[in-house]
Amino acid sequence: MKRVGHYIDGRQTPGSSDRAGPIFDPATGEQTGEVVFGSAADVDAAVASAAAAFPRWRDVPLSRRSEILFTMRDLVRGHAKQLAEAITSENGKVLSDAEGEVLRGLENLEFACGIPSLIKGEHSEQVARGIDVHSARYPLGVVAGITPFNFPVMVPLWMFANAIACGNCFVLKPSEKTPSASMLLADLWQQAGLPAGVFNVVHGDREAVDRLLAHPLVAAVSFVGSTPVARHIYATAAASGKRVQALGGAKNHMIVLPDADLDMAADAAVSAGYGASGERCMAVSVVTAVGNVADPLVDAILARLGKVKVGAGTDPGAEMGPLVTREHRDRVAAYLDVAAAQGAVVVADGRDQVTADGGFFLGPCLVDHVRSDMPIYQDEVFGPVLSVVRVPGYDDAVKLVNENRYGNGVAIFTRDGGAASSFQHQVNVGMIGINVPIPVPVAAYSFGGWKDSLFGDLHMYGPDGIRFYTRGKVVTTRWPDPATSSVDLGFPRTR
Ligand code: NAD
Repeated sequence: MKRVGHYIDGRQTPGSSDRAGPIFDPATGEQTGEVVFGSAADVDAAVASAAAAFPRWRDVPLSRRSEILFTMRDLVRGHAKQLAEAITSENGKVLSDAEGEVLRGLENLEFACGIPSLIKGEHSEQVARGIDVHSARYPLGVVAGITPFNFPVMVPLWMFANAIACGNCFVLKPSEKTPSASMLLADLWQQAGLPAGVFNVVHGDREAVDRLLAHPLVAAVSFVGSTPVARHIYATAAASGKRVQALGGAKNHMIVLPDADLDMAADAAVSAGYGASGERCMAVSVVTAVGNVADPLVDAILARLGKVKVGAGTDPGAEMGPLVTREHRDRVAAYLDVAAAQGAVVVADGRDQVTADGGFFLGPCLVDHVRSDMPIYQDEVFGPVLSVVRVPGYDDAVKLVNENRYGNGVAIFTRDGGAASSFQHQVNVGMIGINVPIPVPVAAYSFGGWKDSLFGDLHMYGPDGIRFYTRGKVVTTRWPDPATSSVDLGFPRTR
């Protein structure tokens, strides 16, 4: 069985703790390894290494940083298959999806390669007579990233590509369920020529996280995970004076208006609801059927479900893999009976595809006539379950979205430009798709939700990522007027 250790100061190390957690292959249900759980001393070692590396890394010229980032980009692209295999073996998602994750993560390295222009300040001449002002952005120091199980490569890249490009040193605490990909990334950074200490990985659970949140040398914390933990991270890290961005859970609605292209909407609901077994923070969870579109839409989605092939992530024919753990699969499945008892209609029950002794599988589930007071609607289910809420009109759909406590993503399917335009103004959600079911912004924009989906003010990656990982200085300069200066320049004065 493999044993995954930390990566501190440019070396793999087992660390100082004897605590460890199991790693499973979700497709077989078997334990395949162990990951060591970092102690406070391991976190301290990683932070000390990062802090020691910072003064030198901060002073590395932008052109050299850019060169290392370009090399890292090529290495990640060249190792996309290997990274995808590491993701699939611990997360369960199908290999094609895992490769897609690597490529979406790669965009952030490509964006960060432009650091010489991204970090540029501003300059104003003659704001008053003889006075110029310019601004510049500086790295924060040691910054930490705490990441979830569902995107073991992409979410760390959301954070560390920009953090390192800006001149910071980074300590990553990955999910203990999917730890291996981060060790590959550490190895690639080393191959790219990143100095030791600039990127560190400490595995573990709450003990390691809490030490990062309290450590006096950690200047900022980026977090992506569930809402209760995001809230804890935000409050705790902010209380010890750190800059924090904490992205939480989601309940993403897909509104389908009666004029929508039905096939397009049904295809989108299936790919966005069941892709990665619904374990995406931008997965569609609630199909909101407006007016008379409901019956044909439910029929169209159901007709597609039989064709979704569920299987091991390594099976090239599989479109949907297992869930991450047995407990999570059982928790997701339990929502079906509760919803049925409360009056919802389970149109497709994915428990038919649960194998007694095998992996953590659950087939696609479709639940119609869901009401907003039901737990299946209220909670983030985070599995292959699409709830259909039927509403009489467009205004009811907007009200439903705005009354939900989450505000990560939302999509509207319509042919009506006026309706789409009103919708984007009216919904209190951070990322909106118009006939696009999963509107994850490209790396040149920033990613973030509203309400309980994000604690903090700056969104992740893109321009907000550069702002988050830097702080500004403004310099006001006065030079003596050359015409009146008595200093002998040794050449004639001109103005
Ligand atoms: P999680 O909150 O359980 O864990 C996230 C990280 O926090 C892990 O590294 C974990 O070790 C750590 N952690 C867990 N409990 C902790 C505690 N009590 N104290 C300190 N640290 C703790 O999330 P998960 O199950 O790994 O990931 C799924 C969740 O992440 C879903 O809610 C999903 O919506 C969310 N997510 C959000 C986004 C987004 O962009 N908003 C993206 C991906 C995932």
